[in-house]
Amino acid sequence: MTETVTNWAGNITYAAKELHRPHSLQALRSLVADSAAVRVLGSGHSFNEIAEPGADGVLLSLAALPAEVDVDTAARTVRVGGGVRYAELARVVHAHGLALHNMASLPHISVAGSVATGTHGSGVANGSLGSAVREVELVTADGSTVRISRGEPRFDGAVTSLGALGVVTALTLDLEPSYEVEQHVFTELPLEGLDYETVAATAYSVSLFTDWRAPGFRQVWLKRRTDQPLPDFPWASPATEALHPVPGMPAVNCTGQFGVPGPWHERLPHFRADFIPSSGAELQSEYLLPRPYASAALHALDAIRATVAPVLQTCEVRTVAADAQWLSPAYGRDTVALHFTWVEDTATVLPVVRRVEEALDGLEARPHWGKVFTVPPQELRERYPRLSDFIALAAELDPAGKFRNAFVREVLGF
Ligand SMILES: Cc1cc2nc3c(=O)[nH]c(=O)nc-3n(C[C@H](O)[C@H](O)[C@H](O)COP(=O)(O)OP(=O)(O)OC[C@H]3O[C@@H](n4cnc5c(N)ncnc54)[C@H](O)[C@@H]3O)c2cc1C
Repeated sequence: MTETVTNWAGNITYAAKELHRPHSLQALRSLVADSAAVRVLGSGHSFNEIAEPGADGVLLSLAALPAEVDVDTAARTVRVGGGVRYAELARVVHAHGLALHNMASLPHISVAGSVATGTHGSGVANGSLGSAVREVELVTADGSTVRISRGEPRFDGAVTSLGALGVVTALTLDLEPSYEVEQHVFTELPLEGLDYETVAATAYSVSLFTDWRAPGFRQVWLKRRTDQPLPDFPWASPATEALHPVPGMPAVNCTGQFGVPGPWHERLPHFRADFIPSSGAELQSEYLLPRPYASAALHALDAIRATVAPVLQTCEVRTVAADAQWLSPAYGRDTVALHFTWVEDTATVLPVVRRVEEALDGLEARPHWGKVFTVPPQELRERYPRLSDFIALAAELDPAGKFRNAFVREVLGF
């Protein structure tokens, strides 16, 4: 490949024979049919080799395809093209008086790439972003189109696919009437005596942030829908200035705080669409555990604070409702998600990632597919009870393994 292509974080330079940006569905079909190994690159916000096709493979970007966003107001659905990002999608959906149920911390990411890795926001009753998907359109290995809809037996393998089933050319998503959200930020929530389940349920979406330099949480972000009651939050003090979750970063990059109501898509993400999200110089890891383990997990992390804090920018604790996608890290269990924004130095971060994984041992942690982890594949596979169903589906849609890169072969074991 003559062009150098890296992920957003810059820690991965994709190895590939060729990079293609087809302008039409027909060109995409021919490319797929004529290639032996293919991976799609979304917006490149993953932190590992999940999107890499390998030195003999084709890296496919859908950025040059028409950016379809077709809203059906009567059905309350939207059909969104495979290269479209949440920011573009949300603007159009909102203009139709409709909304998504949730968003991730940033709107910069592609919809297809996000649901492929089980990306989520927060909220005890909010499923991962993929839980809004009702139909997947795929160009499979022979260049033909396959549509898989909610209710079909194969559907629960088709959304969180790690890109291993084919090229997702469109997704149809559920919508709901538009709503407004207020963001209330609090500071210094103690860990001692914390009833996590109660705190996490105080608002539509709740995030706790800590640098682990001291016990407890430096910030709490409550995102309240204005059509739901205003919660009491007696455990911490209201922030007196606008805050960024990463200490030292400018709050202007963040969505509106101090309880000023705004449209759902300008409050559910922490970071504004036209600003750099997070710190911009970082690696990330995240582990999703059964929610009843939240307290044990937080105390386990507190016990290794001295190891974690020196390489940490911020740690975020969120919730995700159980879903039915076979490879979703929230599959079958209401979840607590423990996220880490590390410094951007892989060599110093990896031993600490391992230390975190050891601390969470026995708590059935499933790592985020798009972030840095070192969990041995054999252990990881044991945490996905429907893995063999996914492998059968991949073998049916892609018998020769055209879409199976080294990452997928290693973690899934086929
Ligand atoms: C600053 C930052 C903040 C983040 N915040 C969150 C968060 O709040 N919650 C969370 O859960 N995650 C978060 N993430 C992680 C991110 O959401 C995931 O890594 C997500 O997969 C990124 O989407 P992408 O389009 O960049 O995917 P990529 O990294 O480009 O690709 C991910 C996977 O999807 C596949 N893929 C992409 N498009 C297609 C397609 N059209 N057809 C088939 N396969 C496809 C790729 O082959 C690859 O396997 C964050 C990442 C960053 C950098």
